[in-house]
Amino acid sequence: DLLVVGSANADLVVGVDRRPAAGETVLGSDLVVHPGGKGANQAVAAARLGARTALLARVGDDGHGTLLRESMESAGVDTSGVLVGGAPTGVALITVDPSGDNSIVVSPGANGRLTPDDVRAAGELFAGARVVSTLLEIPLETVAEVARSIADGARLVLNPSPPAPLPDEVLAVCDPLIVNEHEARVVLGTDTEGGPGDWDDWARALLALGPRSVVITLGADGALVADASGSSRVASVKVKAVDTTGAGDAFTAALAWRLGTGEALADAAAYAARVGAAAVTKEGAQVSYPTAEEVAAL
Ligand code: ADP
Repeated sequence: DLLVVGSANADLVVGVDRRPAAGETVLGSDLVVHPGGKGANQAVAAARLGARTALLARVGDDGHGTLLRESMESAGVDTSGVLVGGAPTGVALITVDPSGDNSIVVSPGANGRLTPDDVRAAGELFAGARVVSTLLEIPLETVAEVARSIADGARLVLNPSPPAPLPDEVLAVCDPLIVNEHEARVVLGTDTEGGPGDWDDWARALLALGPRSVVITLGADGALVADASGSSRVASVKVKAVDTTGAGDAFTAALAWRLGTGEALADAAAYAARVGAAAVTKEGAQVSYPTAEEVAAL
């Protein structure tokens, strides 16, 4: 079984002709509300593929929390670990201009109140999980407690997003650490210009930080996987990209699930690349996630 420990947000989206300047008001399109947040996205993506998936998260006692729970339950996610209260449900306030560029304000809300104690109280979910997948839209001290709570024989998958430098005790159990280029830079502490050279060099630099394995996602160029035995490229699937929102979350969820079935990292990443590709062929995040049949048909 897969356990995702992460965030759940309501994405509030309004189209605008242009962004307001300070002190200015502009009119926008009708509001669209999507279930989102990287934790909820991953849980829905895995469940849609057929994985037995639970989510440990926190939402507010409000309508957005209800929307998120209903979306996850209709995808088949076990929401017994979705805790309620402490703050309003996390929201992302998103304006989209005519060229498709986003401006986003995130209010973490209840996501910021998911505590190490909440992790310790979820022992049953951890005991049943072959793979635990987590991310950084929850407090870092909570992520550290997740790293300490992995059952014997189980593995931790971490996508450090939004990126931040990671403590050694967390890095040491990542198997794999999954990063895109921007996340790799922040985790490595390199500036925005420089970098280690080619992608193999990036992978070696990341492995030197301590994770057991590394996956670098490269958008339309696929991915690279690496561990102590070496590295290999994962081809992407050629698709017509419509909306890349949530592709990384779908990739991570699919990879985590396949690792839990006993697949090798390179094979799991190849499958995940197909899921990521399918996710970019449709608008939205959770609504764009494919079933296993749709992946097979790609
Ligand atoms: P993130 O959203 O975290 O930056 P990526 O954009 O690298 O992640 O996407 C994750 C994975 O989804 C990629 O490694 C790739 O396999 C797949 N993917 C993303 N964009 C495309 C695309 N345009 N065409 C095909 N596959 C894609």
